[in-house]
Amino acid sequence: MTVAIAAPPLGPLLHDLVRNHRPRRETGSVPANIPFLADVPFNKFGIAVATTSGQVFSSGDADVPFSIQSISKVFTLAMALQGDTTGRLWSRVLREPSGTPFNSLVQLEAEHGIPRNPFINAGALVVTDHLMEGTYDAAAWVLRFLTAQAGISGPYIDEAAAASELSGSSRNLALAHFLKDFGNLKRPAEAVVENYVRHCSIMMTCVELAKAGLFLAGEGRGTAGPVLSPSDAKRVGSIMLTCGMYDAAGEFAYRVGLPGKSGVGGGILVIVPGECSICVWSPRLDGKGNSLAGTAALADLSDRTGWSVF
Ligand code: GLU
Repeated sequence: MTVAIAAPPLGPLLHDLVRNHRPRRETGSVPANIPFLADVPFNKFGIAVATTSGQVFSSGDADVPFSIQSISKVFTLAMALQGDTTGRLWSRVLREPSGTPFNSLVQLEAEHGIPRNPFINAGALVVTDHLMEGTYDAAAWVLRFLTAQAGISGPYIDEAAAASELSGSSRNLALAHFLKDFGNLKRPAEAVVENYVRHCSIMMTCVELAKAGLFLAGEGRGTAGPVLSPSDAKRVGSIMLTCGMYDAAGEFAYRVGLPGKSGVGGGILVIVPGECSICVWSPRLDGKGNSLAGTAALADLSDRTGWSVF
């Protein structure tokens, strides 16, 4: 990781990114399976950077809560690894990019119920099931974890959004039933999907998410103390780099050069190892499900700061 000598001060740089990347006209799409998310104004744009030295910089709509959706998968993976000293989780889910849409059924069938990675829906359902061995209300546990890492009581579950997504969750239920049939789900499929949808429906701001992700930039040490060992923090970052952006991980690595995880709520969490955790949010998505303006802003930020793992 290198920081260009000429990188401008972060505060003005973030304001400039907001000025240049906040959408001026409506392009991109909203997720078809979550009607609630279609109502978010297209021109929202926020960005926050939390540094390992304890500073937080932000601009635009960085204090507006949004639906974290699949960004929760980074944190559920970290939580599952925390208690998994024997590597049990890794006998149930792989660590390879999927190259298929995040909610694909075909690959799961062909690969006998072992999901390719923890960030596609099938893999996240297995991770949620793993967490439910600790407590049946895994979503509440994820919320407590995120609240502790963010250091403020802001995060909450949008129960109305969760209910609306649950009422149209046929595909996630199908994935869960497939997993169950292959013996890779211990709890009832319906209960796992409910917990999964509820932790995806957590609402957080860019500032809160950047702070919550700090342990991944700080060798496992977050705002509230140690979360993961340095090697597990490195491993979560590696999985973000290879699997974090749906089937556009290669394109994102090419443009941004940093580990990231996106959600269909339009948020992207990005890690600059040793330096900072970044969250950008803008709700309209590209064809792969990643924030259009968010990805463009991160490519710009990485070019202008020299922040990259390459
Ligand atoms: N809850 C969403 C789903 O399962 C998450 C999608 C995403 O952000 O990738 O469809």
